[in-house]
Amino acid sequence: MPKKDTRTYADRAEYLKRAVAKRRKTLRQKAVDYGGGKCRVCGYKKCIGALSFHHKDPSQKDFGLSTRGMTRSWEKMQKEIDKCILVCANCHAEIHADITNNKNKLNA
Ligand SMILES: [Zn+2]
Ligand SMILES: [Zn+2]
Repeated sequence: MPKKDTRTYADRAEYLKRAVAKRRKTLRQKAVDYGGGKCRVCGYKKCIGALSFHHKDPSQKDFGLSTRGMTRSWEKMQKEIDKCILVCANCHAEIHADITNNKNKLNA
């Protein structure tokens, strides 16, 4: 990645805001990559925002890719992701509605 000259940003606050947003975005991408990079059921990967983590253990809570969820440490996130499968919004809804016919894939 080419290094940007940060001095071109007149407004430092604006620059910091961008830096934080970029870091969150990177972390989100990292989480998705770690989870397999695409929906485990249908292979969807067009929009990272439409992907979320489904907990294999129903007693545990699902978590999405919201910026709030990204505040925890990467190490903690990895442990959570290990217990989850990455799915798109459509497949996720189907899993919870108990109508997905790809259940065998979910425990892979
Ligand atoms: Zn899907
Ligand atoms: Zn779920």
